[in-house]
Amino acid sequence: MAIGAHPDDIEFGCGATLAKWSAAGCHVIHVVCTDGSKGTWEADGNLAGLALRRQREQRAAAKLICPEGETVFLGWPDGELRAGTKERAQLCAWIRHYRPEVVLGHDPWRSYRLHPDHRNAGLLTLDSLVAARDPMFFPGHGGSHHRPSALLLWEAEEPNHIEDAGGYVELKISSLLMHKSQHLTTMGVLSDGDSTDFNLRVRALAEAAGRLVGLEAGEAFHLIDDL
Ligand SMILES: [Zn+2]
Repeated sequence: MAIGAHPDDIEFGCGATLAKWSAAGCHVIHVVCTDGSKGTWEADGNLAGLALRRQREQRAAAKLICPEGETVFLGWPDGELRAGTKERAQLCAWIRHYRPEVVLGHDPWRSYRLHPDHRNAGLLTLDSLVAARDPMFFPGHGGSHHRPSALLLWEAEEPNHIEDAGGYVELKISSLLMHKSQHLTTMGVLSDGDSTDFNLRVRALAEAAGRLVGLEAGEAFHLIDDL
């Protein structure tokens, strides 16, 4: 189960890893916390229309890397995500429902991180996981308690685990490009659709992560496996 603040964050954080695991037979769940409705530079943009468009883009991106997977939208307003009790109860229920072996999410402790949703999605992931594993938190809510065996945090402040992304970087880039509404704002892909620079940037990041452990390509995480 990968938990991202906005449509596209999961593909950025762990798209190659999910593609690899999906190909190996894992059932992958995308959980998207906010509706992504502020992901535009158009001050008079249609927020409801953008939220719907981003749901469609997210489903298409998820389908590309994890054809058998599922996507859950928590639906909180973009930019206003909180890691409060209400949000925790909701995400705790999804964790208990799907009973993931591994949870992936934003590292909330990444220094100088500006976007509040990325910080709060990270905190919400941790807090919901703690709630889901313990029967005394939200008793019976969403099913019986469930303890995942590992947590992988992307954009990690202190990476301690590189997942081999060899053979899956192309698929990661293709899935990111499914988020067409974000081409200009997030990916620097102009209206001519030329994504060469973006391709090179994503590939360079994957190669840099891989080099740390002698691989062609990788995705870097902070692994916590004593949950
Ligand atoms: Zn984001």
